Amino acid sequence: MSRAILPGAMVNGQPATLGVMGGGQLGRMFVHAAQAMGYFTAVLDPDAASPAGRVSHHHIQTDYLDEQGLAQLMQRCAAITTEFENVPAPALLTLGAHRPVAPASESVAIAQDRAAEKAHFVRCGVPVAPHAVIESPAQLAAVGEDLLPGILKTARMGYDGKGQIRVKTREELVAAWTALQNVPCVLEKMLPLKAECSVIVARGADGQMVNFPVQLNVHRDGILAVTSVYKGAVPFDVAAQAVAATRAIAEGLHYVGVLCVEFFLLEGGQLVVNEMAPRPHNSGHYTLNACDQSQFELQVRTLAGLPLTQPRQHSSAIMLNLLGDLWPQVTPTGKGPTSPAWGQVLALPGTHLHLYGKLTARPGRKMGHLNITGATPEDVRATALQAAALLGIEAF
Ligand code: ADP
Ligand code: MG
Repeated sequence: MSRAILPGAMVNGQPATLGVMGGGQLGRMFVHAAQAMGYFTAVLDPDAASPAGRVSHHHIQTDYLDEQGLAQLMQRCAAITTEFENVPAPALLTLGAHRPVAPASESVAIAQDRAAEKAHFVRCGVPVAPHAVIESPAQLAAVGEDLLPGILKTARMGYDGKGQIRVKTREELVAAWTALQNVPCVLEKMLPLKAECSVIVARGADGQMVNFPVQLNVHRDGILAVTSVYKGAVPFDVAAQAVAATRAIAEGLHYVGVLCVEFFLLEGGQLVVNEMAPRPHNSGHYTLNACDQSQFELQVRTLAGLPLTQPRQHSSAIMLNLLGDLWPQVTPTGKGPTSPAWGQVLALPGTHLHLYGKLTARPGRKMGHLNITGATPEDVRATALQAAALLGIEAF
């Protein structure tokens, strides 16, 4: 990717168009950012009602490996990105042969596989949880007692705590591997977590890299629930370590695009890397309202080869994830409220509602998020707790 794709330019006789594989909420927010800068957009996603497809100039409704769909995407787009890490690697390879694709299929392939991902972290000199790769009965039998109790995670396709089973004994481990259908897995030692945090960086094709501040994350049932970002949320030395580790991980991949790395802060104070996402991340949604550039703007800039400048957080921020559980149940009579109490929530100062246009709420489904910004950590926490109480989100 040597030459920039300038916003509003004509490229091969058509308006400069940026493409995204996947039409979920991350794709939607990418599309919003790209369009705000004057780009046309194209989304490839088989779902006619996909959140990003609904707001894009072009929506190619085919499977991710459909040759005609991929050909159409390439025909339309000057450069292409992805919004989910499980996009089939062959699709990115095909696209990458003809168009600038960021992140590159090699980076996505590593992030798709927990075993490869951990090996990369180790190569970069960043500490990981004690673990063992389990791909055969012999490897299962060879697992040391020191990894128990642990969490057995499928090497591929896991997200939001799916594809994971917690095991206390060797018998439970054997049963769990059977329950996961003996697919390649990673067994990780269960660690005593004091906190979880994440760091988002953006790196350009020229190697220039910028980062957002460290995000403090609360997960519930394996799904991100709350992200807090303000001075003091994460101890200064831990934050510095996390940023340095994330930069090393991105550098080691020669990464181009937006990358998020998740960390565990242990009871003893050590920082351990958990996993990475080769895309913007749920824990970076606060940047939409609390920073002078959002993670999606940086995704656009890295894809289009535009300059990167260090983003600046101008407000203390808390993000509350809005899962389908918060939506009122439809009553048999069809009467009663059909959405949470937005009127009351939006009456609080510094609240910013983002809904993804999903028409059916299901438990655990990410329907949107609420960003709360404030002048001080105290202000933002007080408002966020009020909003959480109104919405029925457990205090944090
Ligand atoms: P996912 O891909 O589903 O996000 P993660 O590996 O990030 O999977 O695990 C989800 C959550 O489970 C983590 O955010 C953390 O709360 C908990 N968890 C995962 N691995 C460990 C571990 N080794 N020790 C303690 N808790 C863990
Ligand atoms: Mg995770």
